[in-house]
Amino acid sequence: MNLELSIIIPIYNEELNITNLYNRLKPVVEKFGITYELVFVNDGSKDKSIELIEELSKNDSTIKYIDLSRNFGHQVAVSAGLDYSKGAAIAIIDADLQDPPELIEVMYHKLKEGYENVYAKRKSRKDKNVLKKAAYKTFYRLLAKISHVQIPLDTGDYRIMSRKMANVIKHMPERNKFLRGQIAWAGFKQTFVEYDREERAAGEPGYTYKKLFKLAFDGITGFSDLPLRIATYSGFVVFFISLLLIAYSLYSYFFGDGQIPKGWTSLMISVMFLGGIQLLSLGIIGEYISRIQNDIRQRPLYIVKETNITI
Ligand code: UDP
Ligand code: MG
Repeated sequence: MNLELSIIIPIYNEELNITNLYNRLKPVVEKFGITYELVFVNDGSKDKSIELIEELSKNDSTIKYIDLSRNFGHQVAVSAGLDYSKGAAIAIIDADLQDPPELIEVMYHKLKEGYENVYAKRKSRKDKNVLKKAAYKTFYRLLAKISHVQIPLDTGDYRIMSRKMANVIKHMPERNKFLRGQIAWAGFKQTFVEYDREERAAGEPGYTYKKLFKLAFDGITGFSDLPLRIATYSGFVVFFISLLLIAYSLYSYFFGDGQIPKGWTSLMISVMFLGGIQLLSLGIIGEYISRIQNDIRQRPLYIVKETNITI
C-alpha cells in the first residue's frame, strides 16, 4: 500500500497527553482523506506512555509504534521515526499539543504545491517559563548570526517534508543530530506557515535545560566554525599586539630614560612572543579540526535536484 503521509510523534513521559493528542489529530488527518500512519516513537518513557499507545494501536491499524530501549533524546527519537516511516510525506509533531494538529493540513497542501519542506514558524509562544522562552529566542538569533547555513528563526521541528527530503536526511550519518539545521542545509524549495505556539497541555517538559544545552551545542558546532575560529582570530590579534609590545620594549631598552628594571625587556619579549605563538598555533590546530569535523560529519558534498544524465 502506498502511504501518503506519516506523522512522527516523539514521546517522552506523555501519558497525560497521548489520548488528547490522538483525539485531536485523528479527525484532522481523517478529514483530508489520504492514507496515513501515526508513528509513535517512545523515547524510553518512565510512565505508562507505551502501554497507552499499544492499547490504542489494538483498535487502530494506522497506529505504528517504535519503543526505544532507553531515553535517547528527542532528535534521535525523530530520526528513528524517519527511518521507520513509509509515507510519501512525513510530518513531525510534538506530543504535548504545543503544535496545533490542525496546521498539518495547511502544511500538507503547501507541500503539494511543490516544496520539499514546509516548516511551522512560531509567531508567538506561550510558555510559562520566561527564562526558557528568552533562551530559545537568543539561541535562534545567535545561531542565525554565526551559522554558515540559513537556519530559519523561531522554528522547531514541527514540519512536513517530502520523501525526497527525508531520504537526504536519512543519508546524513552525523551522530549529533540537529534536524532543523540539517534540513535547512539540504536546500531545495522550502517554505513556512506561521502559527501561535500553545502552552504544553499537561505533564512536564521532557527537554530539561541539560538537553536543551546539548541541542544548542549540537546546533552551533554542527553549523558554525566560529567557536574554533575564535582561537585563530584572537591568535592573530594577540600576535600582532605582541609584536608591537616587543618593539616598544626594545625601544625603551635602547633609547629609554633608563628607568626600566633589569630583565623587564627580555621577560616582556618572551611572554608576549610565547603567548602570541601559542594562540596562533591553537588557531591553526583549530582550522585542521574544523576540516576533520567536516569530513567525519560525512554530509553529502552536494545534492542534485534534477539532471538528465544517467550514470
Ligand atoms: N521528547 C522526547 N525525548 C526527550 C525529550 C522530549 O522524545 O528526551 C519529546 C516530548 O515527548 C515531546 C517533544 O519531544 O513530544 C518535545 O519535548 P518538550 O515538550 O519537552 O520540548 P519543549 O516544547 O519544551 O521544547
Ligand atoms: Mg513542548
